[in-house]
Amino acid sequence: MTRISTEVLVIGGGATGVGVVRDVAMRGFDAVLVDRVDFGEGTTGRYHGLLHSGGRYAVKDPVSARECIAENAVLRRIAGECIEDTGGLFVTTPADDPDYADRFVQGCSDTGVPVEEIAVAEALRREPLLNPRISRAFVVPDASMDAWKTIWACVRSAQEYGARALPYHPVMRILRDGDRVAGAVCRDERTGEDVEIESRFTINATGAWAGRLADLAGAPGVTVVPGKGIMIATNHRLVNTVVNRCDMPGDGDIIVPIRTVSVIGTTDSPVDDPDDLPITADEVREMLDAGDELVPGFSSARQLRVWAGARPLFKDDKAAAADTRDISRGLALVDHAERDGLGGLITITGGKATTFRLMAEVAVDAMCEQLGVERRSRTAEEVLPGENPDGHYWLGSRLARRERTMHDDQLICECELVSRGRLEEAIARRGTQNLDDIRRVLRLGMGPCQGGFCIYRATGILHDERRLDGPAANAALRAFVQERWKGVQPILFGDQLRQARLDEWIFQGLLDIEHVADGEVGAEPEPVAAKEVV
Ligand SMILES: Cc1cc2nc3c(=O)[nH]c(=O)nc-3n(C[C@H](O)[C@H](O)[C@H](O)COP(=O)(O)OP(=O)(O)OC[C@H]3O[C@@H](n4cnc5c(N)ncnc54)[C@H](O)[C@@H]3O)c2cc1C
Repeated sequence: MTRISTEVLVIGGGATGVGVVRDVAMRGFDAVLVDRVDFGEGTTGRYHGLLHSGGRYAVKDPVSARECIAENAVLRRIAGECIEDTGGLFVTTPADDPDYADRFVQGCSDTGVPVEEIAVAEALRREPLLNPRISRAFVVPDASMDAWKTIWACVRSAQEYGARALPYHPVMRILRDGDRVAGAVCRDERTGEDVEIESRFTINATGAWAGRLADLAGAPGVTVVPGKGIMIATNHRLVNTVVNRCDMPGDGDIIVPIRTVSVIGTTDSPVDDPDDLPITADEVREMLDAGDELVPGFSSARQLRVWAGARPLFKDDKAAAADTRDISRGLALVDHAERDGLGGLITITGGKATTFRLMAEVAVDAMCEQLGVERRSRTAEEVLPGENPDGHYWLGSRLARRERTMHDDQLICECELVSRGRLEEAIARRGTQNLDDIRRVLRLGMGPCQGGFCIYRATGILHDERRLDGPAANAALRAFVQERWKGVQPILFGDQLRQARLDEWIFQGLLDIEHVADGEVGAEPEPVAAKEVV
């Protein structure tokens, strides 16, 4: 068994956990971050992509609205290139309560969310596909935020401050020293070896899984109800601004333009298991119908992919009474010393991707208080590595970069403009045999063909670069195709069905993927964190 000793162990590599490990490392603690799978593979990698202005919560949840607008400003400053400054519109459609608009304006003014009413004609000029029957339109500073870019930028920042980041290290057991948590035993999924991580303090940032982790630590009854939400991406942008229904939050009331697609979402239904999120035909229909309210014809546009995520909905009476008194309803901090008499452990969950930095700051403040040390958070001040504080991502930036190298570098993924050079760089940096890990860094195979044209090329390059044997390369290819299929299968109609048939002919007819020799994706050296290369 490998043994590691550290001051702070952070469990969970979603937005919250990477925010926590960055904060901890910047305050001068030695830290280790672990996740059971790849970073950003939980809810954060499945979210809607909206950097909230707070407008959505201005009436229903003013505390969250204030947090969102404050963090919106911070993230624009420190994570400029992870964000596209799309702006946001709230529009009153014929299906919305017409009285809500005035309450919305009042709520925005009470919570500090900048809002400006514009003429309907101006809204339609900006977004020509919007429902022409809208009666009012308001501009707010919503934006879209790339989950994976943000996650990797935080991981890199933490690493620059000395933290270690270990994906594919599920926590199997929590170590106890009497009434204190003393670390955890993980399994290194790439080598099969157990890794014992001894720590002075442990922060549970496992989102919708936080109750299970608290159970492992011997602090039962932390109730985090996974709230399932589904989202559907169209194969191109139907709007360039985040468009919200101006009504109380409901299902399918926001379309977010992110990268090359528009994403409609979302639903909210409690489920038992955050790892089991089936998508039904009724939910798909409901989303498409809701899309038509905002953009008539939405349901007949080509639907590219559907997926689901699990919101960490915190409901814990015991902890709420003891620990969340001074904290917003959005985020939930559980100090297990107070709640359970168990020192050295804090759980931070709930909240939103937009408020991940604040959640991290609150959690690390609470840890410092328990440890009796005074070290202030600096995460709101320091720009993330590789970020340009004055510039945001813009839709044409990848094409502009591609044009600079188009004569010297082969194009591997046409939909997402991934070149051979960038693919080789990502394979080397991630030290992985898993094409899905590469997808999350480069967006490889995420366009309309869902890997149909690029993924066997990428497999060949992975085979070459990582010196995989044939069966291991075949396994990597099949795992990728299977993963893509999950998101296409519930929306098999129209043009995407035609694409799926073509992909099937390529993979079954030409490559005979069902019958190629299959192997194991082999053991890996210590994984190297990705430089964000998108
Ligand atoms: C459908 C939907 C749409 C949303 N849209 C938005 C939006 O537009 N804007 C917004 O701001 N917010 C949005 N949210 C909310 C936001 O996505 C979440 O609040 C946020 O991503 C949660 O981040 P997290 O790091 O706490 O959890 P996660 O991202 O889920 O991270 C938890 C991590 O813990 C890991 N883990 C679990 N168990 C273990 C273990 N035993 N050992 C090691 N690791 C473990 C998991 O693998 C996972 O990576 C949305 C949520 C949903 C469900």
